[in-house]
Amino acid sequence: MKKSIKDFDLNNKKVIIRVDFNVPIKDNKILDDNRIISSLKTIKYAIDNNAKIILLSHLGRIKTEEDKLVNDLKVVVKRLSELLNKDVIFVDETRGKVLEDTINNLKPKDIVLVQNTRYEDLDGKLESSNDEELGEYWASFGDIFINDAFATSHRSHASNVGIASNIESGIGFLVLEELDKLKMLDDPKRPYTVILGGAKVSDKIGVIESLSKTCDYILIGGGMAYTFLKSLGYNIGKSLLDNESIDFCDKMLKKYKDKIILPVDSVVSKKFNEDVCIKNNEDFDSNDIALDIGEKTIEKFKEILKSSNTVFWNGPLGYSEYEKYSKGTKDILEFLSKQDKTVIIGGGDTASSAINFGYKNSFTHISTGGGAALELIEGKTLPGIDVIEDK
Ligand code: AMP
Repeated sequence: MKKSIKDFDLNNKKVIIRVDFNVPIKDNKILDDNRIISSLKTIKYAIDNNAKIILLSHLGRIKTEEDKLVNDLKVVVKRLSELLNKDVIFVDETRGKVLEDTINNLKPKDIVLVQNTRYEDLDGKLESSNDEELGEYWASFGDIFINDAFATSHRSHASNVGIASNIESGIGFLVLEELDKLKMLDDPKRPYTVILGGAKVSDKIGVIESLSKTCDYILIGGGMAYTFLKSLGYNIGKSLLDNESIDFCDKMLKKYKDKIILPVDSVVSKKFNEDVCIKNNEDFDSNDIALDIGEKTIEKFKEILKSSNTVFWNGPLGYSEYEKYSKGTKDILEFLSKQDKTVIIGGGDTASSAINFGYKNSFTHISTGGGAALELIEGKTLPGIDVIEDK
């Protein structure tokens, strides 16, 4: 059992909290503040317990100077202040005297947000490669480190593993809840059905292999379904194909032929975002692009889900960012929202779809971490959590 924020006396202590403020931003506006909202419980607990709070987060990827301009955490400070109803100090640096002085002058209940940790990636990927000196330096800011960024816990970075290797550490409420809820899948009430969608098979080979062993059914939709259909010899037209995964799909379909359920029909367009029609697998032309599951597939999936007691879902069933191709994902979300069963949505695009389509509070759990949730379910160790002290 890992230590949590509740196991420390925070009074007057400098507490570094690694949060996940990696929110979508366009034209300097936050499009979705769910990640900020999810971090509030831990931050409020630290305020209530008189901590001096230092927040660290990454935002996007930083490879060029221009990336810095569009991934500036300054936008987040205003929203965080509003949500906490409290001033938050922002330091536009990831190191240096201004930042050090600000931290040394913090009073209990004060909060400082440090600029995007990945600004340190521009010159040598220091954050993302868990540079030892950087981890030690950031650790020197505080007395206690709390990891509350579940979504990056499958990565070993200076702002999680690096800091935790140097000072006392625990997990925050968001990570506690993630571990607690995702643990339900270790011993699921059966039948246990997994829905997998999204773009590429190759990104999910590990998870397909491990879940095939443990679940009763895997319903495959989204772009990845067409590599499976190709391996069965279907003409998939110009649909997404992951060439190097064809053999893997063939192997899985032979091994788990009664468990893996593929689409029988799809919503296709000749050109992306143009006219659509529904076609059975047998009827594709060579220039058809399949962008959503069709009506018969939706019904087939619902039939299996109806008799399931536990459902884990990762990856949209179509190109659901576009209205034309979102029906499969929406219909299955709506159907599951009305069922009395354990439904866990595994982060990333599926989580955004569930929240954006209005199902934020309809399921057992919506994970904040796509990759991290998948790795945990696969049985892998998450370095950002493994490094935390045991109780
Ligand atoms: P992933 O990160 O692997 O879960 O992939 C999510 C992405 O897959 C989203 O951007 C979806 O729009 C995309 N996607 C889902 N279905 C399809 C499809 N049939 N063709 C192309 N892209 C798709």
